[in-house]
Amino acid sequence: MINKIEHIGIAIKDAKSSVELFSKLFNTQPYKKESVVSEKVNTIFFQVGGNKIELLEATSSESAIAKFIEKKGEGIHHIAFDVENIFEEIKRLKSEGFVFINEEPKHGADNKLIAFIHPKSSNGVLIELCQEIK
Ligand code: ZN
Repeated sequence: MINKIEHIGIAIKDAKSSVELFSKLFNTQPYKKESVVSEKVNTIFFQVGGNKIELLEATSSESAIAKFIEKKGEGIHHIAFDVENIFEEIKRLKSEGFVFINEEPKHGADNKLIAFIHPKSSNGVLIELCQEIK
């Protein structure tokens, strides 16, 4: 079951200036900063009412975020949905014809198991499924 939008991910070039910008926009400071070494990204989380915004900064030119910015520029990178059971959702969505970037859930930021659906199978939108690790 898909419960709700968990967060929206935004690709940024520079954490320092973007944290300043989004702190002004939301009138609050980020509540968490976390590096995901395996993904070569720094993540920065803002809580906005009941919603979360994740800023993603590449730590290497090899990072998917660096490649995204090179192609499309900064901006909305993905929408993440909170799921009850990520393994079941992957199975269900694969049977519906969705193509996953990683079919095996991996550890993401913010204590989550995550899997990405390839944007070519979802109208150009990169979709992240995430399940909180309890
Ligand atoms: Zn995300």
